[in-house]
Formats: sequence, C-alpha cells, structure tokens
Amino acid sequence: MGLGTLGSAASDLVADAADRSDSEDLELHDGAHVAVIGGGPAGSLFSYFLSTSAHTVGLSVDVDIFEPRSFSRSGPGGCNHCGGIISESLVQILAAEGIALPQHVVRRAIESYVVHMDVGSVRIASPVDERRIAAVYRGNGPREGGDVGVESFDGFLLEMAVEHGARVIRKLVVGIDWDGGLPRLREADGTTTPYDLVCIATGVNSNFVRLLEGSGVELEAPETTRTYICEFRPESGDVARRLGDAMHVFLLDIPRLEFAAPIPKGEFVTMCLLGSDVDQELVHEFLTAPEVRRCQPTDQVPCVCACSPLINVRGVRRPYADRLVVVGDGGVTRLYKDGIGAAYRTAKSAATTAVYQGISEQAFRRTYGPTVKAISFDNTIGHRARMTRGRDDACAPARPARPDRRRTTADRLR
Ligand SMILES: Cc1cc2nc3c(=O)[nH]c(=O)nc-3n(C[C@H](O)[C@H](O)[C@H](O)COP(=O)(O)OP(=O)(O)OC[C@H]3O[C@@H](n4cnc5c(N)ncnc54)[C@H](O)[C@@H]3O)c2cc1C
Repeated sequence: MGLGTLGSAASDLVADAADRSDSEDLELHDGAHVAVIGGGPAGSLFSYFLSTSAHTVGLSVDVDIFEPRSFSRSGPGGCNHCGGIISESLVQILAAEGIALPQHVVRRAIESYVVHMDVGSVRIASPVDERRIAAVYRGNGPREGGDVGVESFDGFLLEMAVEHGARVIRKLVVGIDWDGGLPRLREADGTTTPYDLVCIATGVNSNFVRLLEGSGVELEAPETTRTYICEFRPESGDVARRLGDAMHVFLLDIPRLEFAAPIPKGEFVTMCLLGSDVDQELVHEFLTAPEVRRCQPTDQVPCVCACSPLINVRGVRRPYADRLVVVGDGGVTRLYKDGIGAAYRTAKSAATTAVYQGISEQAFRRTYGPTVKAISFDNTIGHRARMTRGRDDACAPARPARPDRRRTTADRLR
C-alpha cells in the first residue's frame, strides 16, 4: 500500500468516525414522532418497514401519514395514475415480506408479455407458466367504472400501514419550517407540527419538493416528462378475446414514443403511452397505427377515463438530509419500468436506515445511499442504450420516407 493510499484510507476513517458521531447524535428515540408526506406505495411501505423494524428493537415510534387523496374514489381523484403492473419478482418479494396481494385487489393475473413490432409479434411467457404478474388499479378504478367492484392497490397498502400503527391525516402538507433543529410540517391553514423525522413520499405529480426551495431544505426535484393513460371499456368479452391474460407491449418506430402497453383489467383496458412529452398528436398516431388496430381497435372504443401524469426520467443524487429522507418517485426510480418495485426498495432501505443507523444525512448517505446509487446506475445503462440507439438512427443513411413516415424494425436493423 503506498503512502497516498494510506493517507486516503486514514482520511476515510476520520470522515467515517465523524459521520458516526453525527449519526449517534441523530437517532430515533423511544416515542419519536415520524411524519410521512404521501400515502402512495412509497409512503405506506416506508411506514410499514419503519414500524416493523422499530418493533424488532423494542422502539416505540408514532407515525403520521399525510395523504389528502381517498383511494376509495373512482377516477383521477382517487388514483395515483399508473399502468398498475406489479412485476412477477415484486409479487414474490412482497409475499416473502408477508405482504400477499389479496385476490380482490388483483384485477387480472397476467401470464405473459406479448411484444408487438412492425415486423411481427412475440410472446414471452412467465418462467413457470403461472399467472403471477398482477394488474391492479391504484384507486377505485376508472371514472365510469363504479359498478365493477374494484379494490385499490394503494388503499390496500395504506390500510396495511394503519394496521401496523400509522395514523392517516387527510391533509395536504404545504411546506417545512425549522425550529430548534426539528422540521415542522406546515398545513394549508398555517398550522405547524414538529417531527423528529420527515419522510417525503410525494411522487412527481406534486410540486411539494419545489415548494421547499428557499426554506433551508436543500433537496433537488427529479427530472420528469409527460405520459398518457386512458381507460377503455370495450364490448363485453372483447378484452379476453383480443388481449387474453397478457400484457401487450408495442415497440413501434414513432418519434418520441418509447413504448405503449394496453393492459387488460377485468372489463377495462388500461392503455399507457410512455415517451418524451406525450401529447394528443402522438396519442392519435399510436392509436391509429395498423399494428395497434390489429390487436385492440381502441380508436373506435370510447375512452372512459384519461390523464397525463408525469414520470421520473432522472432521479436525484442526494434524496436525504438531516432528519429528512425522500423515497419513491420523488427521489430515484427505475427508468420507464417497475416504479412500484423501486418505491419498495427505497422505502425499505430508508426505513431500516432510520431505525438501525440513525437519521442524520451521514447515516442516510452511508446506508440508504447505496440503494439510491444502485438504481441510478441501472438507469445510467438504460439512458446510454437509448442514446446509442438515437445516435445510430442519426448516422443511418437517409432512406426514402414511407407514406406514413414510420420506418419498419427491419429498416432499423439493416
Ligand atoms: C404512465 C405511467 C405508467 C406506469 N406504470 C407502472 C406500472 O405498470 N408498474 C409500476 O410498477 N410502476 C408504474 N409507473 C410508475 C409508478 O406509478 C410510480 O413509480 C409509483 O406510483 C411511485 O410511488 P410513490 O409512492 O413514490 O408516488 P405516488 O404514487 O405518486 O404517490 C404520491 C402520494 O403523495 C401524495 N401527496 C403528494 N403531495 C402531497 C402533499 N403535499 N401532502 C400530502 N400528500 C401528498 C399524493 O396524493 C399521492 O398519494 C407508471 C407511471 C406512469 C406515469
């Protein structure tokens, strides 16, 4: 080992010792008050893991979840806007954590993916031919679907957090003030309440993190882009006949469209379009594409509910500070996939850090930081792959445009 290496190892040890003394200062004490802002998957899972971990070390913590949305409402007001696919691995991980998705929450058990391209389609079955991918509704289903007995996924997780001791406060938080080193949550009527730890789980469809600018809380907001979701209610029997128990993924060469997926859910089909600033023109181009019409002619079926939610396309590097931690979409998530899985991973890692390591910025950096980095690293590869594809396209010799301005996958591979 050279002297330089010894010097840096020593300074690492000194920094680590300093970190440890800071984290010793900031720990959850018995009877600590914890606030969770947002009762989506990240907030409910954070609350669940905080309570269960605290219980194992004999620590008593009071958890308040601030969530104004009622997940028992149908339509956009009760929903956290998402395709609602829970991947097979996440279904199993949740089951191993003791969180088994009840039958009434799963709208359809999906057994395979069918990938559609302009050169044809391919079916990818789940490894053991069981229907273990779950399709759920985040709220109480589409606006005009009040008669189909939907149970909300987010409602189920929030209820689970309540069963483990959390209290739900049906209010919006509008800011954070500081008093004597403690964060105080501010509600719309100006009331403020102090907490020992605040978990921010507000997702990206809220400007909460931006509201904190200038309040002494130095947290960045993630980079986002607009997506599109609509719910169709085709003729009775049409969903099963055309889509079966499969999630269909369209990888078409339409500019700005990353991919699109119609997901069967009982009598409905949830159509998700993900890409860069998805607008009505892009939605129309997709719905009228021949490959889509062949599979599910949704352009002739009325849309009963629609929204244009934001999605996180670049997470933040430091979703934590002393007594503050950001989980789920508001911090880092996986690029265009498995957002609920990332909410689970960040929520569990942040909650166990708070209980076992402390609630200082250093404690979160040391123990929650690696989870954040692992997700970001995965996304860096995803971003590079997308950029490489873009560069290849840009370098390709010009070809005569087809009448519909779209190139085939065969063109791209040539
Ligand atoms: C088009 C689209 C399709 C998607 N499809 C899938 C999919 O199929 N599978 C998948 O795993 N992921 C999918 N995702 C990603 C997934 O939706 C997110 O990753 C997930 O919702 C993140 O959970 P969260 O708890 O961090 O945030 P959210 O689910 O957004 O929850 C945030 C909660 O905070 C509350 N809140 C916000 N501000 C405040 C405030 N100031 N005070 C109090 N409460 C507040 C909100 O009411 C909300 O309930 C999709 C996303 C999009 C946009």
